[in-house]
Amino acid sequence: NDFGDFGLGEDIVRAVGSLGYEQPTPVQREVIPQVLAHRDCAVRAQTGSGKTAAFGIPVCELIDWAENRPQALVLTPTRELAGQVKEDFINIGRFKRIKAVAIYGQQPFAAQKTELKQKVHVVAGTPGRVLDHIRRGTLNAERIRFLVIDEADEMLNRGFIEQVEAIIEALPKERVTLLFSATLPEDVDRLCRTHLRRPLHIEI
Ligand code: AMP
Repeated sequence: NDFGDFGLGEDIVRAVGSLGYEQPTPVQREVIPQVLAHRDCAVRAQTGSGKTAAFGIPVCELIDWAENRPQALVLTPTRELAGQVKEDFINIGRFKRIKAVAIYGQQPFAAQKTELKQKVHVVAGTPGRVLDHIRRGTLNAERIRFLVIDEADEMLNRGFIEQVEAIIEALPKERVTLLFSATLPEDVDRLCRTHLRRPLHIEI
């Protein structure tokens, strides 16, 4: 399939093929090479555009399987989206044996703590609960190299800005940051200017 043209590993190309994806969507065509080159991106794209795989594919490619601490953090506005992102990472990372978990509010903290003690490459979660785990020391953020802020406009609409900022403060400065949003209001733009490093602006 055409995903072979990005220079991805065979295990990722095979997983994408087994998902039935034949051609990259426009957002995937734009974003995948940039992430593989470690460029920050601010992306305007709607749900249904294939945006999850646009970050899931290159992040899975770049994950170091042998590292036991989490390397990618995906912040989402809802529990449903966190669960979906986790599933997509598991599917894309299937042949690479990528471990992904979803952590969100109104679920027992202790069970998530146990999950986070295992080998985990990718954490998807809502800001409040992610911050809780970082503050209590149950989510080790010192090896996070990829941060994805998904549905940023929705995240800010729901009043998560302070938690998002606090999470970013706890992450290594040396990282790739990707922001996805359906709309780019002023406060989303400010988030990009403050926390992304010379981002490429992509509009689909
Ligand atoms: P998303 O925008 O991430 O919510 O994705 C929307 C839907 O498109 C999901 O059901 C994906 O599984 C599917 N999808 C993502 N990328 C592709 C692709 N390249 N070809 C076909 N379907 C895709």
